[in-house]
Amino acid sequence: MRFDVISIFPEIFRAYINESIIKRAIKKGLIDINIHNLRDYAKNRHKSVDDYPYGGGSGMVMKPEPFFEAVDAICPDKEKRRVIMLSPSGVNFNQTKAMKLSREKKQLILLCGRYEAIDERVASFLADEEISIGDYVLTGGELPALVIIDAVSRLIPGVLGDEHSVEEESFSWGILDYPHYTRPPAYRGYEVPEVLLSGNHKDIQRWRRKEALRRTLNRRPDLLTSRKEISDEDHELLQEIKEEDLK
Ligand code: SAM
Repeated sequence: MRFDVISIFPEIFRAYINESIIKRAIKKGLIDINIHNLRDYAKNRHKSVDDYPYGGGSGMVMKPEPFFEAVDAICPDKEKRRVIMLSPSGVNFNQTKAMKLSREKKQLILLCGRYEAIDERVASFLADEEISIGDYVLTGGELPALVIIDAVSRLIPGVLGDEHSVEEESFSWGILDYPHYTRPPAYRGYEVPEVLLSGNHKDIQRWRRKEALRRTLNRRPDLLTSRKEISDEDHELLQEIKEEDLK
């Protein structure tokens, strides 16, 4: 998968993509990340990429031309690119969206805004979609672009060492992840649940499923109500959890 990022702060990306799993994925040729400086596409003498807002008001607005020029230079064929504009007004990013993007055959081009906003013509006529990473406002689109690159990359087959870890973690089952423990079995008197030391695979699986459901019920009940169907086993486990919580 190929990612292209357009930003006025290309240096922000270097440290993150040159470490750990992302670095390995690039080395293995599973992903390719190209960072472009928006200023390289500004035609004016001062390489300025922003201007005063029409209609007045505070803050500067990012000009449309550099974004259009940059995208056309990176991938002139509209059929081969998917342009994503990072924006707090976009559709909320989640694991389902990450999965969809990880299967995208087109090159992903991520547009990072700064200042007050990006000229609306970029959203209307250049971007294929606007994505927000959450209901808060950041100073720029660089962190959101990295969030998307990270979440999408780790879903690409071969990027993570152990494929099963993707299947079992939060949201992949439509619910939150179960609690994890490692050695020592007791630390400062805090003990690892006995079932995990039992070696009984069936009991361990049931405990994990139940604790994942318990967490989801307590922290994100919306994930349970939005599920189309709940299996008989999950119904049974949820009933047990509710009865235990009443005690
Ligand atoms: N005036 C804008 C608003 O109220 O929606 C906020 C602009 S913000 C300071 C500058 C840039 O940061 C945006 O153009 C966008 O690219 C990026 N950004 C900020 N928060 C974001 C979020 N939650 N998700 C995605 N991008 C975000």
